[in-house]
Amino acid sequence: MSNSESEILNLELPVMEDFYTIQGEGFHQGRAAYFIRLGGCEVRCVWCDVKDSWDVNAHPKIAVDVIADKAKASGTEICVITGGEPSMHNLQALTDVLKDKSLRTHIETSGAYPITGTWDWICFSPKKFKPPHPSVAAQAHELKVVVFHKSDFAWAEDFAKQVGPECKLYLQPEWSKENDILPQLIEYVKKNPQWQISLQVHKYMNIP
Ligand code: SF4
Repeated sequence: MSNSESEILNLELPVMEDFYTIQGEGFHQGRAAYFIRLGGCEVRCVWCDVKDSWDVNAHPKIAVDVIADKAKASGTEICVITGGEPSMHNLQALTDVLKDKSLRTHIETSGAYPITGTWDWICFSPKKFKPPHPSVAAQAHELKVVVFHKSDFAWAEDFAKQVGPECKLYLQPEWSKENDILPQLIEYVKKNPQWQISLQVHKYMNIP
């Protein structure tokens, strides 16, 4: 296969880091999971805590079967593909090899681009800095809105109208504003119990 065919199929992907840890956020919070952080993001959130991921060319391209072998060897049952913004890559080849190894495939995405690949769990976390593609909301198993400012509650409700009836709804305080935002979240969820609060518990555990 030529290099260009390999690139089109994304048989290699830029990997910033991969590690076995505990999922700290959302519906699967507390479960062991192998995280694969892909390089590349054009969303550019001002409060992003992984800005080193943004440059797609700054990370080594690794073959998807090598990525999957390493994940399987960790002993995990769940692989979480995150970024960066993973939807900027075609992820079909990666999810195919993960599925071949009987691993669950989860993605954390802003939905900036249409989602490719085969997924057991899609965590849709839209960002104001680059509006999501309209196809993504209806596919989400979990909507997770990071609340940075009180105007984000109304923004979150706009997306809650776009997801399916089974989709879990989470509000998560932006980490640097947690002291200010968390009391507002608590009051909001008490009044709007269809939402739940997601905290980044991995940060309390001092794990990645
Ligand atoms: Fe950072 Fe994620 Fe926002 Fe990209 S989408 S800028 S990786 S928080």
